[in-house]
Amino acid sequence: MEADVEEYENWRNNIPDEKCTLCDGAGELNGKCVVCSGRGAFSKRDKPPSVRESDEPLLSMLEEIGAFSDDAQTLTCRVCDGTGTLVQVKCHGCDGKGERETIEAAYPMHVEVIKEFTEFCKNSGGFSIF
Ligand SMILES: [Zn+2]
Ligand SMILES: [Zn+2]
Repeated sequence: MEADVEEYENWRNNIPDEKCTLCDGAGELNGKCVVCSGRGAFSKRDKPPSVRESDEPLLSMLEEIGAFSDDAQTLTCRVCDGTGTLVQVKCHGCDGKGERETIEAAYPMHVEVIKEFTEFCKNSGGFSIF
Protein backbone atom coordinates (compact mmCIF):
# COMPACT_ATOMS: atom_id res chain seq x y z
CA MET A 1 0.00 0.00 0.00
CA GLU A 2 2.85 2.39 0.90
CA ALA A 3 4.35 2.09 -2.54
CA ASP A 4 0.97 2.62 -4.14
CA VAL A 5 0.42 5.84 -2.23
CA GLU A 6 3.76 7.20 -3.29
CA GLU A 7 3.23 6.20 -6.88
CA TYR A 8 -0.20 7.74 -6.89
CA GLU A 9 1.01 10.99 -5.38
CA ASN A 10 3.79 11.23 -7.93
CA TRP A 11 1.33 10.68 -10.70
CA ARG A 12 -1.18 13.12 -9.27
CA ASN A 13 1.37 15.88 -8.88
CA ASN A 14 2.38 15.54 -12.49
CA ILE A 15 -1.01 15.68 -14.11
CA PRO A 16 -0.99 18.57 -16.54
CA ASP A 17 -3.94 20.93 -16.39
CA GLU A 18 -6.57 19.90 -18.86
CA LYS A 19 -8.22 22.19 -21.33
CA CYS A 20 -11.45 23.45 -19.86
CA THR A 21 -14.32 21.67 -21.59
CA LEU A 22 -16.82 24.38 -20.72
CA CYS A 23 -15.17 27.13 -22.73
CA ASP A 24 -12.99 24.89 -24.89
CA GLY A 25 -9.90 26.61 -23.58
CA ALA A 26 -11.05 30.10 -24.47
CA GLY A 27 -11.42 31.23 -20.86
CA GLU A 28 -14.67 32.95 -21.65
CA LEU A 29 -18.08 31.85 -22.76
CA ASN A 30 -19.49 33.15 -25.99
CA GLY A 31 -22.56 32.13 -27.92
CA LYS A 32 -25.24 29.75 -26.79
CA CYS A 33 -25.50 29.49 -23.04
CA VAL A 34 -23.98 26.21 -21.95
CA VAL A 35 -26.12 26.07 -18.85
CA CYS A 36 -29.60 26.29 -20.32
CA SER A 37 -28.63 25.24 -23.85
CA GLY A 38 -29.85 28.56 -25.19
CA ARG A 39 -33.38 28.22 -23.79
CA GLY A 40 -32.93 31.02 -21.29
CA ALA A 41 -34.64 28.97 -18.62
CA PHE A 42 -34.93 25.48 -17.35
CA SER A 43 -37.10 23.64 -14.92
CA LYS A 44 -35.47 22.27 -11.84
CA ARG A 45 -36.62 18.79 -12.75
CA ASP A 46 -34.52 18.56 -15.80
CA LYS A 47 -30.95 19.19 -15.09
CA PRO A 48 -29.58 21.09 -18.04
CA PRO A 49 -28.54 18.49 -20.59
CA SER A 50 -25.16 20.02 -21.07
CA VAL A 51 -24.26 19.50 -17.45
CA ARG A 52 -22.53 16.22 -16.97
CA GLU A 53 -21.90 14.74 -13.56
CA SER A 54 -18.21 15.18 -14.22
CA ASP A 55 -18.58 18.91 -14.63
CA GLU A 56 -18.00 19.61 -10.96
CA PRO A 57 -17.16 23.30 -11.34
CA LEU A 58 -20.29 23.97 -13.32
CA LEU A 59 -22.45 21.97 -10.95
CA SER A 60 -21.15 23.82 -7.92
CA MET A 61 -21.59 27.10 -9.71
CA LEU A 62 -25.20 26.19 -10.44
CA GLU A 63 -25.77 25.24 -6.84
CA GLU A 64 -24.21 28.49 -5.74
CA ILE A 65 -26.59 30.58 -7.81
CA GLY A 66 -29.53 28.51 -6.62
CA ALA A 67 -30.30 26.81 -9.91
CA PHE A 68 -31.40 23.70 -8.09
CA SER A 69 -33.30 25.43 -5.33
CA ASP A 70 -36.51 23.69 -4.31
CA ASP A 71 -38.85 26.66 -4.37
CA ALA A 72 -38.90 27.27 -8.08
CA GLN A 73 -40.45 25.20 -10.84
CA THR A 74 -39.06 27.07 -13.76
CA LEU A 75 -35.94 29.09 -13.42
CA THR A 76 -34.70 31.89 -15.48
CA CYS A 77 -31.17 30.97 -16.25
CA ARG A 78 -29.12 33.30 -14.14
CA VAL A 79 -25.95 32.57 -15.96
CA CYS A 80 -27.19 34.17 -19.19
CA ASP A 81 -29.90 36.22 -17.49
CA GLY A 82 -32.60 34.51 -19.53
CA THR A 83 -31.18 35.58 -22.85
CA GLY A 84 -29.91 32.14 -23.81
CA THR A 85 -26.76 33.76 -25.05
CA LEU A 86 -23.49 34.48 -23.40
CA VAL A 87 -21.25 37.27 -24.53
CA GLN A 88 -17.73 37.31 -23.19
CA VAL A 89 -18.63 35.92 -19.84
CA LYS A 90 -15.67 34.77 -17.82
CA CYS A 91 -15.81 31.01 -17.72
CA HIS A 92 -16.64 29.75 -14.24
CA GLY A 93 -15.32 26.31 -15.01
CA CYS A 94 -11.73 27.47 -15.21
CA ASP A 95 -12.01 30.94 -13.71
CA GLY A 96 -11.11 32.48 -17.05
CA LYS A 97 -7.85 30.62 -17.37
CA GLY A 98 -8.94 28.23 -20.12
CA GLU A 99 -7.37 25.36 -18.25
CA ARG A 100 -8.23 23.69 -15.04
CA GLU A 101 -6.89 21.09 -12.74
CA THR A 102 -8.11 17.66 -13.53
CA ILE A 103 -10.52 16.10 -11.07
CA GLU A 104 -7.73 13.78 -10.01
CA ALA A 105 -5.28 16.59 -9.36
CA ALA A 106 -7.80 18.67 -7.48
CA TYR A 107 -8.90 15.92 -5.17
CA PRO A 108 -6.93 15.06 -2.09
CA MET A 109 -5.58 11.59 -1.85
CA HIS A 110 -8.18 9.04 -1.05
CA VAL A 111 -7.86 5.35 -0.42
CA GLU A 112 -10.75 4.45 -2.71
CA VAL A 113 -9.24 6.52 -5.48
CA ILE A 114 -5.88 4.87 -5.03
CA LYS A 115 -7.53 1.48 -5.26
CA GLU A 116 -9.23 2.52 -8.48
CA PHE A 117 -6.00 3.96 -9.75
CA THR A 118 -4.13 0.75 -9.07
CA GLU A 119 -6.82 -1.28 -10.78
CA PHE A 120 -6.84 1.11 -13.66
CA CYS A 121 -3.09 0.83 -14.18
CA LYS A 122 -3.32 -2.92 -14.10
CA ASN A 123 -6.10 -2.99 -16.66
CA SER A 124 -5.12 -0.31 -19.10
CA GLY A 125 -1.35 -0.21 -18.96
CA GLY A 126 -1.44 3.51 -19.49
CA PHE A 127 -2.90 6.78 -18.38
CA SER A 128 -5.69 8.83 -19.76
CA ILE A 129 -7.73 11.48 -18.05
CA PHE A 130 -11.14 10.02 -18.74
ZN1 LIG B 1 -28.53 30.28 -19.81
ZN1 LIG C 1 -13.39 27.44 -19.00
